[in-house]
Amino acid sequence: MRFATKQVHAGIEPDPTTGSILTPIYQSTTFVQESVDRYLEKGYSYSRSGNPTVQALDKKLTELEGGAACASFGTGMAAIHAVLLAFLNAGDHAVISDVAYGGTYRLCTKVFTRFGVEFTFADTSDPEDVKKSMRDNTRLILTETPANPTLKLTDIAAVSAIAKEHRVPHAIDNTFLTPYYQRPIELGGDLVIHSTTKYLDGHNATVGGAVVSATDELHEKVAFVQNATGSIMSPQVAWLTLQGCKTLTVRMDAQSANAMAVAKFLEAHPKVGTVRYPGLPSHPQHELATSQASGYGAMVWFEVEGGMAAGKAIMDSLELWTLAENLGSVESLVTHPVTMTHADVEEAERKRVGITDGLVRLSVGLEDVQDLIDDLEKALEKA
Ligand SMILES: *Cc1c(COP(=O)(O)O)cnc(C)c1O
Repeated sequence: MRFATKQVHAGIEPDPTTGSILTPIYQSTTFVQESVDRYLEKGYSYSRSGNPTVQALDKKLTELEGGAACASFGTGMAAIHAVLLAFLNAGDHAVISDVAYGGTYRLCTKVFTRFGVEFTFADTSDPEDVKKSMRDNTRLILTETPANPTLKLTDIAAVSAIAKEHRVPHAIDNTFLTPYYQRPIELGGDLVIHSTTKYLDGHNATVGGAVVSATDELHEKVAFVQNATGSIMSPQVAWLTLQGCKTLTVRMDAQSANAMAVAKFLEAHPKVGTVRYPGLPSHPQHELATSQASGYGAMVWFEVEGGMAAGKAIMDSLELWTLAENLGSVESLVTHPVTMTHADVEEAERKRVGITDGLVRLSVGLEDVQDLIDDLEKALEKA
């Protein structure tokens, strides 16, 4: 089956008791056992260890990513937390993309370091820097591509080859492109992480996460941690995310086309400095964007002349674009990473990796693109 067919049908069968086309929300804590030592045929016991609605989503995401199995989590951060817990012990070291979601950096530096885990935040856009960062005690490489918020890319195949050489898993945060545009396991990756909050849900309705593993062995390690810590996705969230997944290709294509038009408009505007969008030839890694993914996504950033003050003025005068954290939904959102999503990254580290005060991040939605551009034009006039 091709991708668009899988996004609609994978993981979902008519409900055996009623024939309901949609998988019902199985809102049940526990499941009856046949006898003391036997579960019913389906194998469900307690919803922390497995729930039919959540497993329908697990199956769909497994097929969409081309993996062996998936565990869905309460949030994207819970998914990342489970990967770190599954593969790192006290005294171990991990290599992480130096540009990544702010919460990933915070989790590593403020939580895992308390337990004696060491991290190197490497420029994973340069495979040589990944190689140089590897140590004898390195047990995990975690990359994010395109990275939030600077849209720097990591060559998934090149970094996966380094991981294989060192016999450590390579986990890729695939939130920005989704399996429709980028399938890290096909490129040699071992674990794919999602904040399903973003494009997979797509409607600003839930927070959720997922880890798709390339092998059952890897999955068992992640699933063990999930059951032990209890970081599960709820059946309600799984159900909403299942509905979101069914229209993924249509939303991604339309939102990406809008993003391309917005990026081109910004690039031609005299008040705008740098514009970054992987689909623009001016993106320093445009070739890699084209070769390892089948689309460029719907995230764009730009800088205005006048730094923080000018950036703030624009964000405050936008009317259609909503000032909010989150991304990937049908509503167009504008974010100021320095004060919002990446506020917990120290100033020196932000400067080092290019998250500047004047950086304005756009998550381009599904509205008529001319309305989006008109709103930006008005706001830029005032700036
Ligand atoms: C939002 C986000 C996360 C965190 O996900 P939550 O669902 O908010 O916990 C992780 N990685 C990326 C790339 C994100 O954009």
